[in-house]
Amino acid sequence: LGELLEHEQDRPSTTQDGHEMPLMVNTGLAVDASALLKSRIAGVGLYRTEVPFMITERFPGEKEQMRMYREQLEGFAPLPVVMRTLDIGGDKDLPYFPIEEANPFLGWRGMRVTLDHPEVLMVQLRAMLKASLGLDNLYVLFPMITNVEEVDEALKLLDRAIVELGEEGSAIKRPKVGVMIEVPATIYQMDALAKRVDFFSVGSNDLTQYLLAVDRNNPRVSSLYDALHPALLGALQELSQDAKRLNKPISLCGELAGDPAGALLLMAMGFTALSMNAPSLPKVRAAIRRVTLHDAQTLLAEIMRLDTPAQVHKHLNKRMDEWQ
Ligand code: PEP
Ligand code: MG
Repeated sequence: LGELLEHEQDRPSTTQDGHEMPLMVNTGLAVDASALLKSRIAGVGLYRTEVPFMITERFPGEKEQMRMYREQLEGFAPLPVVMRTLDIGGDKDLPYFPIEEANPFLGWRGMRVTLDHPEVLMVQLRAMLKASLGLDNLYVLFPMITNVEEVDEALKLLDRAIVELGEEGSAIKRPKVGVMIEVPATIYQMDALAKRVDFFSVGSNDLTQYLLAVDRNNPRVSSLYDALHPALLGALQELSQDAKRLNKPISLCGELAGDPAGALLLMAMGFTALSMNAPSLPKVRAAIRRVTLHDAQTLLAEIMRLDTPAQVHKHLNKRMDEWQ
């Protein structure tokens, strides 16, 4: 089976009836922008900038960040690279910037931190913009958005960075900007968000934990943590319909995208791209190549009628076995 999957990797991620589902990778530290990988993906759907920050001894300066970002952007050019601004807090702490809270996942996290420290965000945005000079493949993504004012504030800083760099002699075009849909409140603010940004990226890891009120790292409640919970599936379907109505691309970059059955459901819902860890690419591609879009849509319709996570899993396993 391994060999068969490997062989299929040179083929496009297209269904039997010709529907193309763009697959992207999530990156952090390693820049595996090999020609082989590049020929098989549509770009980087999520570059988690906090990952390189975790192994430095202090906040990397603008020059150092610029080097890191340039490596990503250049490595994958001309493919798009979606760079997410620092998403620390929650379970991701920097040794040189400790955050001690009783409920870190409900606390000072992601954009909440960087908007309270605009000097940190400004350095990061300037470094991203400078790194993108001449490449034109930078997309900026804001994490942990809860209110649209946060987007307005972040965009103001982005525009200020562009003006600053212009005054310093680097004329930079404003990159496309997106927000993470991972706090349930954003599900109900898609219209307001669409007025402000160019694309949506669903973080199913956090959306699952926040929608189900289950800590994503607590083993005691891990049996309740399920991205295929009917409530999640309902939310995801609504999100993709809203994005379509608002004429904005919507991708998903949580673990669900790397699950073959999950990927088929997301494709059927109309997600415009799926971003996953590189090792998941072969199995997801193989699943997509085995079905028609209509098959996936039928599966989705069957799944949406079920009441419990257990029923969803049972039915998905049955259909996936049939499609082996
Ligand atoms: C997510 O929440 O699904 C996501 C992709 O971001 P992270 O896992 O880095 O929180
Ligand atoms: Mg997240």
